[in-house]
Amino acid sequence: MGKILKIILVIFIVILFAVLGLFIYSEGHSEVIGENDLGSVTKVTYGHSSNPSVEIGIVSGMHSRELNHKFVLPLVSRVFAFFNPDVRIVNYVVNVTDHPEDFYIGRANGESLVHDYVVKDVAKEDLDLVIIGHDHEPTYGEDYYVATPTMDNASVKLASKVTKDIGFNYYKRNASQPTQSTSIANVDNPIVETGTRVFVYEIPEVDGKVNAFKRSYDLVTASFNRLNA
Ligand SMILES: [Zn+2]
Repeated sequence: MGKILKIILVIFIVILFAVLGLFIYSEGHSEVIGENDLGSVTKVTYGHSSNPSVEIGIVSGMHSRELNHKFVLPLVSRVFAFFNPDVRIVNYVVNVTDHPEDFYIGRANGESLVHDYVVKDVAKEDLDLVIIGHDHEPTYGEDYYVATPTMDNASVKLASKVTKDIGFNYYKRNASQPTQSTSIANVDNPIVETGTRVFVYEIPEVDGKVNAFKRSYDLVTASFNRLNA
């Protein structure tokens, strides 16, 4: 074998191992934290710091028909934690197996899984923020946005700053009005009651996955920066 060919081969092998190493290094620690007839919740933790400066929870898959957030948020969690050694990201991956394609039943089942398993786990954690991922139809709000349905001070304060930083819309709710929303009662309020800020994060369902990834990465970046300030 020629000398040059040998050198190229060695370089190729080194690069291959480096990429493989990065891939393994960036992989999260997975643990099933709950399972019942409706489906399961897997907790995937990213980050290697023993003393992270910011800890963010990201819920994906609660509404099983929403494909954008379900696909991009686990990737964003992994890539962001890889490039930001000071962060710990906990991605709660909800997998609805009972009627996942039914609009109403599927949603209710996902919310029930989050209520039963994610809320309990968040209460044990010390997360600075939980982002609950969604996709929305064109008429349900404009573009990329964040909402803080519980309207607690800590979530409102952070959402105001973060959405301004990255040009997202921010939808506040009139908290004095009663709500019919099951997810506010079963998911958002109980998480806030654990002393954790909550963002309901909405991606337009008509947008492409590349842009959805980029904008979601922006949201996590801005949240991290504000929480780290
Ligand atoms: Zn949703």
